[in-house]
Amino acid sequence: MAEWENNVRKAVPYIPGEQPKEKDIIKLNTNENPYPPSPAVKEALENFDCKEMRLYPDPEASELVNAIAGEYKVKPEEVFVGVGSDDVLSLAFMTFFNSDRPILFPDITYSFYDVWAEIHKIPYETVPLNSDFTLDPEVYTLENGGIVIANPNAPTGIYETVETIEKIVSANPGSVVIIDEAYIDFGGESCLPLTKKYDNLLVVQTFSKSRSMAGIRIGFAIGNAQLIKYMNDVKFSINSYTMNRTAIAAGTAAAKDSEYYKGTCEKIIRTRERAKNALTRMGFEFPDSKSNFLFVKHKTVEAKTIFEELKKRKIYVRYWDKPAIKDYLRITVGTSMEMQKLFDALTEILK
Ligand SMILES: *Cc1c(COP(=O)(O)O)cnc(C)c1O
Repeated sequence: MAEWENNVRKAVPYIPGEQPKEKDIIKLNTNENPYPPSPAVKEALENFDCKEMRLYPDPEASELVNAIAGEYKVKPEEVFVGVGSDDVLSLAFMTFFNSDRPILFPDITYSFYDVWAEIHKIPYETVPLNSDFTLDPEVYTLENGGIVIANPNAPTGIYETVETIEKIVSANPGSVVIIDEAYIDFGGESCLPLTKKYDNLLVVQTFSKSRSMAGIRIGFAIGNAQLIKYMNDVKFSINSYTMNRTAIAAGTAAAKDSEYYKGTCEKIIRTRERAKNALTRMGFEFPDSKSNFLFVKHKTVEAKTIFEELKKRKIYVRYWDKPAIKDYLRITVGTSMEMQKLFDALTEILK
């Protein structure tokens, strides 16, 4: 090791799902939406004037913030936007988790949380889920410097009620509680209304999943104006121009057309419910999902074998070689045609 390497900030990075370069694959591994975004997005980009690119974008991304505020019936001062919810969450960790006490999150959850805790030097403790992967709100009364919970949870897909979330938020007035609602539009009820009642609650959502815009990178947080101000102070201490002009234009158009994404979410929900039946018939077990993916385990065949066999057939799903979840595959809900191809392949593999 070179001498200077002693002074390097060393990180064990998050490993995102594979993005294969081949064209004719069925990609059910990163919870992307199989449908295109709203036609209003296409129109906004077609009307985008490239001459404007020479100018810096609006550091406040006001157009987008106002559109989101309008859609969710909150004030613009209660909305923060960032480059995907990963950016928003990382910044929220940096802003709110600044205590010597450990932050808490479930032992099985989005695997970025411990990565952010490490990089921002935040002490953390993981809290075990129940054996059926549900969450016990009573455990979140331990002394802590903050809490983060994905609801629905990843990779299990399990949705906890607003009542359960409220128990955690109300029991922790001394900490900021972040609820990551990346998958809330697929059938759960958002805890956004609780932000009016609790000043320590930050709700984070994304345009990547339900709005089919993973490629343009838009995430947002809603909370009381004081929380949002603290986040903006940190953001403007790092990089003022996080949201580029095309993202602001596309995102504004998408935010104003919520009817469209609600329609595609309904299609995905219907496909998901049919997939639950088909997979059960094939001998899979899974927690009940209210997200756009299913976390499945086969009664007899190993997850890793199925994963590899599917890959040979150019069907990509997600598998983790981690002790707690190595028996499971996470399958993103695609179009019904993609799901049919998946079922055909599975029937062949399980024979
Ligand atoms: C996908 C996902 C995100 C981040 O998505 P972005 O594309 O960065 O908005 C955040 N949290 C969870 C639980 C996710 O699954």
